Amino acid sequence: MEKLAQKIAQYVRKNEEKYTDLSRKIWEYAELAFREEKSAAALIDLMKDEGFSVETDLAGIPTAFVARYGSGKPVIGFLGEYDALPSLSQKAGSAVREPLIPDGAGHGCGHNLLGVGAAAAAIAAKDYMKEYGLSGTVAFYGCPAEENGSAKIYMARDGVFNEVDGAFTWHPGGNNSIMGEHSLAAVSVLYSFKGRATHAAGQPHLGRSALDACELMNVGVNYMREHMIPEARVHYAYRDAGGGAPNVVQDHATLYYYIRAPKISQVLELQKRVDNIARGAALMTETTLSIEVTSGLCDYIPNRTLSKLLHESFTATGAPEFDDQDFALARTFWETYPEKEREAKARSYGAKCGEEYVERFRTQPLEDVIFPLQFPATPLYGSTDVGDVSYVCPTAWLNAATYAMGTAGHSWQLAAQSGCSIGEKGMLAAAKAMAHAAVRALQDPQIIERAKEEHQKNEPYQCAIPDDMMPPIEK
Ligand SMILES: [Zn+2]
Repeated sequence: MEKLAQKIAQYVRKNEEKYTDLSRKIWEYAELAFREEKSAAALIDLMKDEGFSVETDLAGIPTAFVARYGSGKPVIGFLGEYDALPSLSQKAGSAVREPLIPDGAGHGCGHNLLGVGAAAAAIAAKDYMKEYGLSGTVAFYGCPAEENGSAKIYMARDGVFNEVDGAFTWHPGGNNSIMGEHSLAAVSVLYSFKGRATHAAGQPHLGRSALDACELMNVGVNYMREHMIPEARVHYAYRDAGGGAPNVVQDHATLYYYIRAPKISQVLELQKRVDNIARGAALMTETTLSIEVTSGLCDYIPNRTLSKLLHESFTATGAPEFDDQDFALARTFWETYPEKEREAKARSYGAKCGEEYVERFRTQPLEDVIFPLQFPATPLYGSTDVGDVSYVCPTAWLNAATYAMGTAGHSWQLAAQSGCSIGEKGMLAAAKAMAHAAVRALQDPQIIERAKEEHQKNEPYQCAIPDDMMPPIEK
C-alpha cells in the first residue's frame, strides 16, 4: 500500500471502535427527518473531542451543523447525513423480519453509517494536516433530513456551502464505485383552486367549480406533453377533489404535481408552463388559484476532476475488508431475494466491470471490487439534495459496499445490515478513501483549481424553492 494510504489507514484504525460504536448508537436512535437531536449531538461531541469548532442551527435547522478544523483556503467539505426512515425498525444482522420496535423507525438507507463515515474522513484528514503541518480547512457538514425534507436545499440556499472549494460525500451501497451519473432535478408544486359552491341542479349558474379547474388544468398539461423534452416527467395526483357529493359544486380542489428533468433549468422552465396552464384553467372557470412550491431539488453534477481523484484514492485505500463471517451473513440477506433478481444484479454489475466478473457476482454476495470510473449519459432515476451542493461547489460522491448485493433500498434488510459489521466495514473503507482524496487536494492546489475551472462551466445555481420557504420542522 502506498504511504499516504497507509497513514490514513492508521488514523482511521486508531478510532475504529469509536466510529463503530457511534454508528451503532445512531442506528439505535433511528431518528426521523429534522428530529435527529441525539444523533446530531453525538456527532457534534465527536467533532469537538477531535478539536473541531462547531457551529449549529444552520439555515434555521436545529440539527444542521458544521464542524471546522484549520483555517483559510482551500476548504474541503464532507457531507454527512443521519436521518432514519419510518417503519423499518429491524434487529441488527437478522435476515428474517424482526422489528425491534413494532412499526418503529429504522436506518433503512444506512445514514447512521453515512454520517459517521463522513465525520471519520474529516477527522483523518485533520490528523494528517496536524502531523504534516498542512494549511487549509476541513469542514464536516451535518446535513439532516435527506429522506424527507431535504435540508441541504435550505443550507445551500442560505449560503452554507459557499465557502467550500471541494466537497466529498458517500452513500452506503451494494458496490464500491464513484457516482458518475447525474440525478434528476425535480420540483413539487401544489395547485389549489377556489370556486363557489351551489346546488348543482337547482342553481348551477351560481356555481364556479374548482374541480373543473383541476380537470382543465390536467387536460392542458396532458396536451403540453407532446411539446416538452422527452427526458422530462410530469406526474400529478388529486390532493383534494372538492368533496364527495356530485350535487354540490366543488368550491375547493387541489392538485399535487411533480416535475422532473435532467437539469434544474429545464424543470424551472417547465414549471412556468405548468403554472400558466393552471392560470388558464382558473381564468376559464372563474376560480382563483394559489401556487405553492413544496420542494425543489437540483440535479447532481459529478465533478469529473474530483471524481477521478476520489476513484484513485479509493483504489489506493482499498475496498471494504470483509471476512468469511461477513460473507456468510450477507448470504442470508442475499437469499431473501428471488434468484431472478440476483441474476439481474450480477449481470448489471458485470456490464460495468467486465464479463469476466459475472460469475463472481453470481456467487459472491458481497462486493469487494472497486468498479471502473464511468460517467454514463443515462441519469440515475431519482433525485437527491446533494444536487444543490454540486451546483454550489465541485462535488464528488463515492458508494461503498455496506450490504449484500441486490438488497433493495429503504428495506428492513438494509436496516439490519447497517447495524452490523458488514455496514461498518463499508463505512470505514469510505472514510479512508475520502480522507485520502481530501489530503491530496490539500497538498496539490492544482487539483482544486482544475475542479473549479470545470465547475464554472456548469449552469449557475438556481435554488428551486422560494426565498422565504422554511423547512417543515414540527415544533
Ligand atoms: Zn440515503
